[in-house]
Amino acid sequence: MKRNFLPVILAAAILITSISVTACDKKSSSDTSVSIPVSSDTPVVSDPASTTPEAGTTESTEAPTPTETPTPTLSPTPSGTPTPVPSPTPVPEYIEPILEGGPAWYDGYVDPRTVRAEVVSDPSDIAVLVNKYYASPSWYVPELVWAKYSADQRLRPEAAAAWEEMHDACMADIGQDLYLISGYRSWETQTASFNNAIPRRGLDKAVCKNAYPGRSEHPLGLALDINIRSDPEIRDNFVYTEAGQWVLQHGHEYGFIWRYPADYGSVTGYGVEGWHFRYVGVDVATEMYLNNIMTLEEYYGKPQILPDAYNE
Ligand SMILES: [Zn+2]
Repeated sequence: MKRNFLPVILAAAILITSISVTACDKKSSSDTSVSIPVSSDTPVVSDPASTTPEAGTTESTEAPTPTETPTPTLSPTPSGTPTPVPSPTPVPEYIEPILEGGPAWYDGYVDPRTVRAEVVSDPSDIAVLVNKYYASPSWYVPELVWAKYSADQRLRPEAAAAWEEMHDACMADIGQDLYLISGYRSWETQTASFNNAIPRRGLDKAVCKNAYPGRSEHPLGLALDINIRSDPEIRDNFVYTEAGQWVLQHGHEYGFIWRYPADYGSVTGYGVEGWHFRYVGVDVATEMYLNNIMTLEEYYGKPQILPDAYNE
């Protein structure tokens, strides 16, 4: 029954310790210290039950520190960069010359049948450049509407609206009744026009004045051959009339340019056409007007390339 003695033994040990400490404290002042030796075999310290009451369960006391749940590694967020879609290198399409022997020139105007032309990539671009070197594709037919103040002609809606505005402004300004003689022409019509022109006017005149299929602006629905209603004919001198002068001064406000000015045949590839205007939109037309750029070829930095013989 060792346990019954435990409190007593503990009390005794505390007392002895207390006395011993007191003794040590008082050592300096007195030599009357009483030392009661604590037996080394005192069961106080040898009884494992008294010191470690839970000894029998030690091995399982400590709950195992839970292994930290590993923070799940975030799977990498896919970056927003889309997989690049390989864009095919645009390969320009060309219309090959139907006559062999290279470009044939007549008084500074090339026969379009002898020229290799690049087909424009976007014929619906309102300011697209089409001439003997840049062709509109044969399949292209724009959206068309009937134009007011015309001989039953059709134009692209943008051009038709601008034409109506310009007509009304001219009428209000100077009382001249502008009239559209020819607007949209199909590729087929243009083919017939060119082919008929050769025997009728001679090849040199035909290549100067008549557009070859695909090299005309009329199939774009953006070209207008105009005069006034009282003289519904194509006239070289239209631009020198009162109505023509008004159009030269104000056409850009509505998006129109004079397309084949006099003395620019070497640049445009066509002789002067006092009646032919082109809708390119107000921005381009105004920029050309303000910077005194006379041709669309110069605007795009693509003037006709004349052979050396014409540059001397
Ligand atoms: Zn025309």
